[in-house]
Amino acid sequence: MDFTLSFEQKTIQKLARDFAAKEVLPVAAKYEKEGIFPRDIIRKMGELGFMGCAFPEEIGGSELGFMNMVLIIEEITKVMASLGSAFNMNAMTCPYAIAMFGTDEQKQKYVRPLITGEKIGYMGLTEPGGGSDVLGGMKTRAVKDGDYYVLNGSKTFITFATEADWGVLYCKTDPSKGHAGISGFIIETNTPGFTATRINTVGMGKAVPTCEIALEDVRVHKDNLLGEENKGFGYAMTALDHGRITVATRAVGLAQASLDAALKYANEREAFGQKIGKYQMVQRLIAETICDVEAARLLVYRAAYLMDCGYVPTRESSIAKYFAAETSYKASQVAVEIFGGYGVCEEYPISLYNGQAQLVRTGEGSPNIQRQLIAQDALGYKKASRGNRRIIKLRSDIVEPEE
Ligand SMILES: Cc1cc2nc3c(=O)[nH]c(=O)nc-3n(C[C@H](O)[C@H](O)[C@H](O)COP(=O)(O)OP(=O)(O)OC[C@H]3O[C@@H](n4cnc5c(N)ncnc54)[C@H](O)[C@@H]3O)c2cc1C
Repeated sequence: MDFTLSFEQKTIQKLARDFAAKEVLPVAAKYEKEGIFPRDIIRKMGELGFMGCAFPEEIGGSELGFMNMVLIIEEITKVMASLGSAFNMNAMTCPYAIAMFGTDEQKQKYVRPLITGEKIGYMGLTEPGGGSDVLGGMKTRAVKDGDYYVLNGSKTFITFATEADWGVLYCKTDPSKGHAGISGFIIETNTPGFTATRINTVGMGKAVPTCEIALEDVRVHKDNLLGEENKGFGYAMTALDHGRITVATRAVGLAQASLDAALKYANEREAFGQKIGKYQMVQRLIAETICDVEAARLLVYRAAYLMDCGYVPTRESSIAKYFAAETSYKASQVAVEIFGGYGVCEEYPISLYNGQAQLVRTGEGSPNIQRQLIAQDALGYKKASRGNRRIIKLRSDIVEPEE
């Protein structure tokens, strides 16, 4: 077991760190305050191959693999947490579902422009009726009409939707069949009847929109059906299985940013004649946070390593996502505590960390849903990882380890 990063990994990590310092840090606060969507930064990240790590070259990918991808995501989210969403909408759940289950035409037309950052994606699964219980909460219907499907319904909490060009949206094509009656569609946001509206969120910054989608008689050609009709539930869950590691990494970046801010402040702020970092109770907060952040990072690296071996490690990704998200939440609270009254002032980026931590806790499966998956696996009720192999192969894939 080797805990050191290779020369290539260190080089990519440095590239991402330098990019974050030069291209993201100078504008992050302004974008968050004024609600400027970071389209220009996403474009540049796409050009550098940051969002194409998990994709083969023939559809525009950089084939850097999952371990390099998590190194990149941590560096970016440390500087601007909300920008981490780009690694879900433009690098995982949306384009990955198309790359896994779409036709060759769909891959060329819809995946390449997303991972190269030319266009913006969304993933429409959650509905007002509930996100954890996808099936029970889903009311949106698609009804076949000749060569078209006609969609009616609504989605909620959809990241990027007001800025997006297209995405994958899941709805019921046969409500009588439960899980086996859901299909995925690639829907362009300029399709008549498709309306996205921003939701007013608090404490997360304004750069990245969270949105509702209303669908009123939206006609989608059958060429934009993803894979086979009524197989969409499996496609959505498989996409989430792959995407969860990106949310876990965003949580590590966020936790590290909280820790870095707390360390700097504790070494500057004085109370009762000395730096507050000299007080043991402050040191305890710092020590506990360091342990949590480093443990979370190792869990993420383990999941990324298994992904690079060609597996879909549902259990390990879930553990990483759960622990890292809880860590990001605790670390953001520690930072606020160490900053005292300044912890709630808008001028410090830490004022956004708590809201962003709530997002990484809830997005792609709430803490209880992760707890359920992990515990049910341990209790023998439902196996989480089924030894599934990744559908998309990369030249950089590591040969699987011997059992
Ligand atoms: C900022 C933001 C961005 C998002 N972006 C997207 C996106 O781009 N696309 C998308 O499709 N969705 C997105 N989501 C939706 C997200 O995936 C859902 O919010 C999440 O799945 C939870 O669904 P819910 O909000 O309906 O809560 P509910 O499912 O109603 O859950 C409420 C509470 O009940 C608990 N609970 C539910 N079921 C159980 C159970 N069986 N056992 C124990 N506890 C349970 C949950 O843990 C939670 O604490 C986003 C959410 C947020 C907040």
